[in-house]
Amino acid sequence: MGQIILKGEPDVPVVLRRSRRARRISLRVSGLDGRVTVTLPLRAPQHEAESFVREKESWIRANMARAPEPLRPAVGGHILWQGREIGIRVGGGRFARIEAGVLLVPPDPVSLPARVAALMKQVARERLTEAADRHAERLGCRFSRISLRDPRSRWGSCSSEGNLMFSWRLIMAPPEVLEYVAAHEVAHLLEMNHSPAYWRIVAGICPDYKQHRRWLRENGRFLHRYRFGNG
Ligand SMILES: [Zn+2]
Repeated sequence: MGQIILKGEPDVPVVLRRSRRARRISLRVSGLDGRVTVTLPLRAPQHEAESFVREKESWIRANMARAPEPLRPAVGGHILWQGREIGIRVGGGRFARIEAGVLLVPPDPVSLPARVAALMKQVARERLTEAADRHAERLGCRFSRISLRDPRSRWGSCSSEGNLMFSWRLIMAPPEVLEYVAAHEVAHLLEMNHSPAYWRIVAGICPDYKQHRRWLRENGRFLHRYRFGNG
C-alpha cells in the first residue's frame, strides 16, 4: 500500500490500494473517519491514480467534511466511556484508570493515547467475556475463545470454529449496546446466518436488540473518531 498526498488546505493523505479485482480506478471516502482510499487495477501506473485524485479533489474535500473530525485523547479533553463523555485528568501511577467518573492518566502526553487504549482493551475484555459467558450459558452453547481487535467495519464476528471477535471500542458505547453485540455473536454459535430464526434467538437473550442495533448504526462512527496510535 502506498500513499498520495493531495496538496492544498489542508493536505489530504490518500491511501493507494491495488486490487486484483479492480477493473478501473475508484475512490472512497470513509464515513467513519474521512479516510480517503483510491483503488486501482494491479497493472495501472501510479500517475493515473494521481491525476484521478486531482480531478476529483472537490468531491473528496466535500465528502471529508461530512465525516466527524478525528480526536486524540489529551489531558483536559474528554473521551467516550460506556456511553458517556468523561473528562481526562492527570492522576498518580503508571497506568490509566477510571475514578469517580474521571479518566486519570499519567502525566506523559506521548504515552497517553496508548495507556487509554490499554485500559479500554482491558475493561472491554472483562465486560465482553462476562456478557458472552452469560449469553452462552442461557443458550446452552459454548464458544472457543474471545479475541479483541480494532476492525473498521464490524463490531464483532463469530467463526465456524466458535471463536468470537469483538471491537474493544465497544467499551465507549452504552453498556446495553456492548451486551447486544455479545448476544449477537453468541447467537451465531447456533445459527450462522441472519435468518428470522436467528433473530428470534437474539430476541430471547436481548429483547431490545433493535434499539441497540439502531444506536450502532447511528452512532458507531463516533466510536471510531478517537485515534490512539500514530495513524
Ligand atoms: Zn451477525
